[in-house]
Amino acid sequence: MKLRVAGIAVLAVLAWLLPYQLDSYLIHVANVVIIFAILAIGLGLVMGIAGQINLAQIALFGVASYATAILTTRAGFGFWTAAALAMLIVAAIGLLIGTPALRMQSHYLGIVTLGLALALTNWVTNAHIAGGAEGITGIPAPALPGIDLRNDYFFYYLELIVFGLALAFGLFVVRTPLGRKMRAMRDDSLAAGAVGVEVPQLRMTAFFLASIYGGVAGVLYAGLIRYVAPETFSIANMFLLLAMVIIGGRQSLVGCVVGAIALSVLREVLVDYPTYAQVAYGAVVVLTVVFAPTGLAGLPTRARGLLQRWGWLRRDTGTPPKLGDFRPYDTVERPAEQVILRIDDVSMHFRGLKALQEVTMEITAGEIRGIVGPNGSGKTTLFNVVSGLYRPTAGRVWLGERDMTAARPHTLARAGVARTFQNLRLFPLLTVRENLLVALDQTSVLGNWRYALWQPGVWRHDRALRRQADELLDRFGLTAFADAAPGELPYGTQRRVEIARAMARRPRLLLLDEPAAGLNGEEVRQLSEIVRSIRSTGVTVVLIEHNMGLVMSLCERVTVFAGGRVIADGTPAEVARAPQVVEAYLGDSAMSEDVPVATPTEAKR
Ligand code: ADP
Ligand code: MG
Repeated sequence: MKLRVAGIAVLAVLAWLLPYQLDSYLIHVANVVIIFAILAIGLGLVMGIAGQINLAQIALFGVASYATAILTTRAGFGFWTAAALAMLIVAAIGLLIGTPALRMQSHYLGIVTLGLALALTNWVTNAHIAGGAEGITGIPAPALPGIDLRNDYFFYYLELIVFGLALAFGLFVVRTPLGRKMRAMRDDSLAAGAVGVEVPQLRMTAFFLASIYGGVAGVLYAGLIRYVAPETFSIANMFLLLAMVIIGGRQSLVGCVVGAIALSVLREVLVDYPTYAQVAYGAVVVLTVVFAPTGLAGLPTRARGLLQRWGWLRRDTGTPPKLGDFRPYDTVERPAEQVILRIDDVSMHFRGLKALQEVTMEITAGEIRGIVGPNGSGKTTLFNVVSGLYRPTAGRVWLGERDMTAARPHTLARAGVARTFQNLRLFPLLTVRENLLVALDQTSVLGNWRYALWQPGVWRHDRALRRQADELLDRFGLTAFADAAPGELPYGTQRRVEIARAMARRPRLLLLDEPAAGLNGEEVRQLSEIVRSIRSTGVTVVLIEHNMGLVMSLCERVTVFAGGRVIADGTPAEVARAPQVVEAYLGDSAMSEDVPVATPTEAKR
């Protein structure tokens, strides 16, 4: 920590002294580099942190530059007024460019944003008001009392301060709840929705942030060059910007800055060889993607890994941390018998395939309900419908008195439904602690005004979340793994993390999809203890499970699925005897009691 502060201080002093070493040409170059660095931070936030492909970043930059140019030269506004208006315009356009992200992702989003960017370049090249291919000259220099900003040296200091603030703000976002939710959304948007992250709004927020950075860069550019022309906002420059972010390492904003500086210097070196320049950038990108896929920012970790592999650096040889014991919740009185979840005649068809057919069932508050059935019988589909991942073809889903049929996953999560996934969906690039922190945060997107206006409030909220996370880690015996990446952990431990993450929502209804799959006998025993304790704290649990021993010992009622229909419903003993159940399971080994976990008497509490 001290080292980092010292490093930042040294860099700041060096940056402050840099102009003394530069002639009038190089200081101009430095000023352009800083503008590109600000742009790269914006692109790093939307693409690297939030995972939204945005090929319109250069267009946002252009919008702000052109807006400043037009408003000053054509409409007679002063520079700063024009700049403020330009920021409003670019923010609006940023939100516009972000709307396709609500419906599409990955390369589709790339194509759409690229199309919007091309449309914009096309417009400025042809529009009379934008000066056509010649662009707009004669933009007035920004005025500050006592400082002549036409002087590149003074402009450098203005830019340096803005850059410092822009980087600090970006890092602030990444390290606090907003950035964590963005990273969670990037890693797994389905799971993010299931833990209450408002995915659509968050995507828009990411584009909004990128447009603010594009806007700041554009305004600075207009003030620095005092001339705008279409070629600055060309696709070639968009590629350069993309290369900066890829080389720097998409997930690290500091990496994006380093990438921006490195490529800008390369561009300066190659300025007399335009034929080779594009090839050189391309080569650098290809080399990065092949040899350092995590970018420059990931190099230290990769280097350490290599040194360890070659035996030049000792591996940590400490004993691997052990999964701690689960500390049971305080028992509360069992809630009054009322229906917490009602599934009313629900069907779910995928084209011709009828995954669920007219399923009707009721779950009573405070029970542990088992759901069993052969593979492909629609159990997971039912969870997906209840947690809002699928909208049912027919029928309704009621949560208490609320009709939740077409609700979004985050709405359901916020209404008290939490779930785990059959094939584990932890956020792989977040630590275990961060996985819990994402779920613990219950603030809505509307609370993000604090990021602009009241940062201490954000810090305080973050500290409160961290305390809750520590408490939760301790309860689930996960403290030793808090800073590990989920992928490094044993399978059983990952399953435990996922339950802890679901419980972080403090749900009323917990859906567990095959939580015992892949666990050993002892782990299954612990799981059964955890589920009992969760129920005793007033949470209703629905459990899909193939481990019949676990189902028999835990559940008061069991619902049996086959071919998308409910074929039996009753106490474990009743359904085990039902002839249609026996028939459905004939030849299916899933019914075998291979891992008995508790004696049947335990089930009757
Ligand atoms: P279970 O969890 O009981 O093993 P599922 O609910 O996962 O079964 O699947 C039920 C049926 O629905 C399967 O035939 C499966 O292939 C199909 N199915 C599930 N999800 C989809 C989907 N998104 N698209 C198409 N078919 C699906
Ligand atoms: Mg399943």
